[in-house]
Amino acid sequence: MTLDVVIRGGTVVDGTGSPPVIADVGISGDRITAVGDIPTSAANSAKIIDATSLHISPGFIDVHSHADAALLNDGQHASGIRQGVTTEIIAPDGLTLAPLSTENYKLYRWYLSGILGWAPEDLDMSSIEASRANYHLKTSCNVATFAGHGPIRLEAAGMNDIPLTGEKLESAKNLLRESLEQGAVGFATGLSYYPNSWSDTDELCSLMEVAGAFGRPMSIHLRNHNVDRAFGGGGVTEAIEISRRTGTKLHFEHYRTFVDSAGEVEKLLEPIEEAKAEGLDITLETYPYPVGSSFPQAFFPGYFHEGGPEAMLAVINDDVKSAELIERMSEISYTNPDDNVWTHIGEGGDKDLEGWLFADLAKKWGVSVPEMMLRMMSQTSLACGMRSAPSGNVNLWRQVEKDVMELMDRPDYMVGSDSIPTGGMPHPRAYGCFARMVGRLRRRYNYPLEQVVQRMTQNPADRFGLTDRGVIAQGKFADLVIFDESKVIDRSTFEDPTLHPEGIPHVLVNGKLAVEDEDVTGALQGYAIP
Ligand SMILES: [Zn+2]
Repeated sequence: MTLDVVIRGGTVVDGTGSPPVIADVGISGDRITAVGDIPTSAANSAKIIDATSLHISPGFIDVHSHADAALLNDGQHASGIRQGVTTEIIAPDGLTLAPLSTENYKLYRWYLSGILGWAPEDLDMSSIEASRANYHLKTSCNVATFAGHGPIRLEAAGMNDIPLTGEKLESAKNLLRESLEQGAVGFATGLSYYPNSWSDTDELCSLMEVAGAFGRPMSIHLRNHNVDRAFGGGGVTEAIEISRRTGTKLHFEHYRTFVDSAGEVEKLLEPIEEAKAEGLDITLETYPYPVGSSFPQAFFPGYFHEGGPEAMLAVINDDVKSAELIERMSEISYTNPDDNVWTHIGEGGDKDLEGWLFADLAKKWGVSVPEMMLRMMSQTSLACGMRSAPSGNVNLWRQVEKDVMELMDRPDYMVGSDSIPTGGMPHPRAYGCFARMVGRLRRRYNYPLEQVVQRMTQNPADRFGLTDRGVIAQGKFADLVIFDESKVIDRSTFEDPTLHPEGIPHVLVNGKLAVEDEDVTGALQGYAIP
């Protein structure tokens, strides 16, 4: 077989957790066809990549990416591919843009613009099949998608506060079944987002039975909205109950300690260990930062979201109704929003305010923080997003990172960046998550390279059924990252978040160089998978 690419003399970390070995890697077309000593005669016409003193691993798989729209707007997607992410699983939290009718696509595209940015206006997203065609060979990385609770509910019942039952539930189940048949890799929901949070535990069980029949897991962002309609008050208890009742696989999104629970890993894992002892099939993911990111409407209770963006803006722009809305913020159990920072301010708003702390901007405008938030949402027609500010206590911040690496020591963990590559001041995880984990934190806390790589490659490929990905072996797809294990490091910070990492010179996707000499090549060789 003719070899198209030969990677010479690198140290192969094959994704299985086995110790690294020095070997050449040969590629024909989009597959790995040789691993070992490749004689010069066999490499005659091949492109040679010199990997002496570098490591080669399978491409990293991001199991939690909010790049649904970013990938459609700019398939190059430097923020992800420069980190070595060769597969992004989109639609986590159930927030995504398919399957949606034309009318619902317009509505949900708008509703999600604070997180996803604006997806292209005219796009056929009427099915998972149509959606996959919009990504296939149009992006630098492979794209897999969950079937999202958001679109499925929207199609079944609109932006209305009703748990699905009867005919509506049947039509949601049918849509989910169809989505899984068309290649969705699981069912995802986020229960601080809408219309997802209007569900009750029974609805989630009914939907999970459908995904379970396909052997697919549920990826869940735990409920902290509408907790009165959840088994056990939502959170971990509800998630575990769904898996218990339906016998289906469960995947916990961004499950880690926070600054106020730093160091309490054992306590965090208690319910997980109990559920696993019962025999439930559970995996988890995390990202290596102390704070998260979202959009401001997540601070407001369910009734505000009814009817969608137009109705929401009507509430915001009415003095009496907006005062009532602020009063009812306390129905959500979040801590106060003062310590958030604007990451993304869309058209109509003042871009220069990206990076402003909520408390400071409220003071500047002479209003309360919630009033400031509503004014910004009005000015930008909801297209604005924020993240939390990390604690000034670096000791606690470091403890959370130490906890994260301790979690990653477990064989049931993987990495989900929760990347939101939108706006001028995004959370640094969008540009740095994987490099931070495999470089800075692995070295600081001294974990074996092959173990950290396994969590980012084989683990997610196995869990989400990504065929022939996640390991380096003959016959597998040639998704590869070539990096310097002693130098690889994230450079994105909370203050300067859009800097690319260093120490990852080359990235290949389906046998083609997507990054060469630490620069994107322009190749759009990603497949819509699994
Ligand atoms: Zn998320």
